[in-house]
Amino acid sequence: MLVDRFGRQARKLRISVTDRCNFRCIYCMPEDAVFKDRNELLTFTEIERVTRVAVSLGIETVRLTGGEPLARRDVEYLVELLAKIPGLRAVNMTTNGYFLPDKAVALKEAGLKGVNISLDTLDRDRFVLLTRRDYLQRVLEGIDAALAAGFEPVKLNAVVMRGYNDDEVERFVEFARTRRITVRFIEFMPLDNGSVWNNDLVVPAREILARAQAVAPLEPVPHSPHDPARLYRFRDGLGEIGVIASVTEPFCRYCDRIRLTADGKLRNCLFGLDEYDVREVIRSGGSDEDIAAVFQQAVADKWAGHLINREGFVKPQRTMHAIGG
Ligand code: SAM
Ligand code: SF4
Repeated sequence: MLVDRFGRQARKLRISVTDRCNFRCIYCMPEDAVFKDRNELLTFTEIERVTRVAVSLGIETVRLTGGEPLARRDVEYLVELLAKIPGLRAVNMTTNGYFLPDKAVALKEAGLKGVNISLDTLDRDRFVLLTRRDYLQRVLEGIDAALAAGFEPVKLNAVVMRGYNDDEVERFVEFARTRRITVRFIEFMPLDNGSVWNNDLVVPAREILARAQAVAPLEPVPHSPHDPARLYRFRDGLGEIGVIASVTEPFCRYCDRIRLTADGKLRNCLFGLDEYDVREVIRSGGSDEDIAAVFQQAVADKWAGHLINREGFVKPQRTMHAIGG
């Protein structure tokens, strides 16, 4: 099992399938991002093998992410491979939603369980400012496609940034209430390599919650401490929201995640500075035991938690799209 020095067990694996993306969100990647060569990315067969080993070590669920996971050709085939792994309870995905109108049905048939769709604004001009692309309508269609395909659950992720979209909390709350989708508000994290982030742009989760509460009374929903989102439902039964306070109230001591980058490196923390090379082990003929040993090392080295806004914090070199959000 993958238990670290602080007694935390890794049960969730986030797999980045590509560092490429058809959006250029300002908080995630530069407009002129440089991408890995395709032969540097793990193949589907390699990802499946790594996942099988991870499951043998106690990983229970995986989430495909990126970059934009649906920008990788035939990713539904990877979903199908992973969904067949005995002992793996769920394959989920985080996506910007753009390709869902075309892909939702195929993904559902391949065995994808849940989708989180990222959407930070319901205003077209702001969408262009935040993502540097004019695709709001398409993402809204993607949400409808995900609901129609029957994914369970469908959630929205909204990164809240002061002065950019913090005045839209109420609109998102209404969106959650009318569509019965959980909207999760995420604090803005320093993973943009210094181009935009500063602490003044972070809207604390407690402020987001107060704004939501003003729309309609909320009550906490019991949930696992390992879920980064604190969940609340509206007392009148219409919908649910979550807040992810990664910056102001870190949940590191309950962290049960480990990440695999698209180029085959394990990372034990979003903000970690070290990487553990699985691809090298695979491509030099290593055994499953050798892959397992890389997992064990990554977990053994996991630190107590990130130091954002504290002395000693060093921003990771890779931006979010290259780590896998
Ligand atoms: N392209 C997909 C998407 O946008 O959903 C998956 C990858 S994206 C990196 C995963 C999640 O990370 C998205 O919900 C995105 O909003 C979030 N994210 C990216 N950069 C972030 C940052 N600096 N702070 C907080 N969340 C961020
Ligand atoms: Fe692409 Fe997702 Fe990053 Fe936006 S947040 S640039 S959609 S990877």
